[in-house]
This record gives sequence, C-alpha cells and structure tokens, in this order.
Amino acid sequence: MQSKLSNTLRQHFPYFFSPNSQGRVYLDSAATSQKLQSVIDITQQYYQERTVNVHRSSHQLAASVTEQFEQSRKTIQGFIGAKSHKEIVWTKGATESINLVASGLAKGHFKAGDSIFVSALEHHANIVPWQQVAQANELQLKVMPVDANGVLKLDESLQLIDSTTALVAVGHVSNALGNINPIAAIIAKAKEVGALTLIDGTQAVSHLAVNVQQLDCDFYVFSGHKMFGPTGIGVLYGKYALLEQLPPYQLGGEMIEKVSFERTTFQPPPLKFEAGTPNIAGVLGIAVASEFIQDNRMVMLAQEQNLYQQLLATLTAIPQVRLWGDKVNSICVMSFIVQGVDQYDLAVLLDKRNIAVRVGHHCAMPLMNVLGIDGTIRVSLAAYNNSAEIETFGTALIECISLLD
Ligand code: PLP
Repeated sequence: MQSKLSNTLRQHFPYFFSPNSQGRVYLDSAATSQKLQSVIDITQQYYQERTVNVHRSSHQLAASVTEQFEQSRKTIQGFIGAKSHKEIVWTKGATESINLVASGLAKGHFKAGDSIFVSALEHHANIVPWQQVAQANELQLKVMPVDANGVLKLDESLQLIDSTTALVAVGHVSNALGNINPIAAIIAKAKEVGALTLIDGTQAVSHLAVNVQQLDCDFYVFSGHKMFGPTGIGVLYGKYALLEQLPPYQLGGEMIEKVSFERTTFQPPPLKFEAGTPNIAGVLGIAVASEFIQDNRMVMLAQEQNLYQQLLATLTAIPQVRLWGDKVNSICVMSFIVQGVDQYDLAVLLDKRNIAVRVGHHCAMPLMNVLGIDGTIRVSLAAYNNSAEIETFGTALIECISLLD
C-alpha cells in the first residue's frame, strides 16, 4: 500500500526519473524540494510561448498573462485561507517577506522600551532582521526558550509575553528539528497584550493545512521552493489594514500611482510592495504547486506519516543515535547526532553512498548554542520519498558508523 501511494506521488516529480539521479537518495527536502512536472511545464510555457510583462502593456497576450498572474494571487489566497487576494504580496522568498515587514515596521511602529519576541528555534531569516531593528530602535529582542530536546517551553514563553511586547515572530515549524510549534496559543497571547504576530510558515505549508484567518496572525510568510515550486518566489500574507499602514519596501515602477518631480503617490497593497518586474514564471509556478498540495493533501499526509514512523524506528534502533526535537508534533524531519562520531565525516560518507542529507547548524546557530552542540545531521523527507530509500539510508548509516567508530 505504502509503495503504491509513493509511486503515485513520485511520478509527478521528473527528478526521480532522470538518468542522472538514478541511485541517488534525496533526503534534503527542507533545504529545497524537488519540482513538480506541472511547475516546470507552466514556467517553460511562460518562457517559451507567453513571455510578456504584466500590468503594463495592453496587447492581448500581456492582458492574458496579467490575468493569469492575478489569478495566481487568488489561488494562493485560497491556499492559506486569506480574506482577500489583496492580502497576498509576491516577494522573492520568505527571507524577503520578513525583511519587508521588519523594515516597514522599523519606520515608526515601535517605541523605545518595546520588545520583540522570537523563539530559540528560529531560522536566521526570522532572527537577524528583528535583531537589527531592535538594535537600531532601542528595543529588546527576547527569546522564547526551549527544553533540552529543543521543544518550545510554551508556558514559560506565554508568561514572558507582556505589555512591552510589540511583536512576536515565530516559526510555524522548525527547519532544524521539524517541531510544529503551538502557534495558536502564542498568537492568542500576543493578541491579548496587543502585539503583532508574524508566522514563518516556510517549513509548514507543504505539510500542514494553513488558514490564516483561523490563526488570526497578522503576517504569514513562505517560499515557493520548499513546496515543490520555483526558487526566487515567495509570499507575504498580511492583514489588509496593516499592509495599508506599512510603508513601501522598494521604490520604482508598478508600485506607484502618480509620479511627478515634486511628489509620488503609491498604489494600494499589494502592488505598493511589488516594485519592478516581478518573477512572473515564479508566480505561475507557486500557484500550480499550491494546487497540487491542496489536491493531494490527504495522500501526502498518509505517506509522510508512514515514512516518518519508519525513519524514527530506523534511528531509534541505533544505540549511538541521539535524536533532537519533538517526536510527536513534528513534520517528517529528523535531526540527530551520532555519539562518538564526527557528524561532518558521517555526512561525507553518506554522500559517497549517494545519500543527500544536511549536516550543520541549519541556519539556526542560536538554537545549536542553546542545545550545546555544533550541529546535527538532518534527514528531511517529503511525500515523494519511499520506504526503500529509508531502508537504503538506514543500512548505509549503520555501515558508515561502523567505519568511523
Ligand atoms: N524560514 C525557515 C523556517 C526556513 O527553513 C527557511 C529556509 O530554509 C527560511 C525561512 C528562508 O527561506 P528562503 O531562503 O527561501 O528565503
């Protein structure tokens, strides 16, 4: 049953059928996912047959692609349950989405003495922009703590959020450990004290159904390339009233309403934040990817859960393996170290056997400091992986450990 499921999903990803990838085991989907054939097709079609700019020329093809581009905004609106397509801003990725909000809020939202909360689990993209804003504006950057396994201490975190908290920026899912954070409780507490909330959903959207209206967060960000879509395209969701208040991020063509040498007025959101020619193929691609996820959500979830349990059993059977993170509330990511062995040497040996995992701090250096380690080996799965790949990985891991022990 399991391999049947995986084969149905896998056939949509040409990577696995390319002669060059035969024998490779790809276990690094949290870094970037493999791409759907439908994503490749729509981007190729744009470049091959439908290349025009959007929101500019009035000829037929330009009008048609502009419509397709704006329809993609509506598709993403549906994908995350936003109230309006005008709340969907195209960016080049989650990093740019966070920087857009941080730089906008820095221009007048905060007052001296305010604090910004992040969690100890954050990706650098959801730490560094806030740290810079805090340093430039005499704000405090505060950190929600984790326990010895790297699981967020919820009660303690909620107690720390108080009337000085102006913003809470937290990941929906940890890229380093796979934990699903209890964001509903965090958002509710932030609202209680009148703080804004930004959720980094980069590792969540390909695994969990997200409804931003139910969550009631103020901002939600993610990237196309982690959800079977193109690189260089991302999404910033923001409540419309907040997007209206936020100043533009970049200035130039398309984000303006009227320009004279004396004065410029800006478009309303979302165009206010989309200066210059956008990544048109990327927009079309991310929309197609989101449709695939929505259409296949149940099958994907079942496959991911099966694979996760198999991976967990494989790793817990090896006595030297120390796992990190929440093993219950987790997406199919496993972070571990092998005691008595250099993790980098281990990753090199796995790579020599054509097994792609990630080793290191996973862009979460502060988390590694808190856990008292240099880094971990991270195996990150997607629904296109299969049981045979996990078996291959397990056998190779045991073999590599015995060589290094
Ligand atoms: N946030 C998380 C949780 C991530 O995993 C990543 C990428 O690994 C990012 C943000 C940054 O995403 P991007 O590099 O696509 O902007």
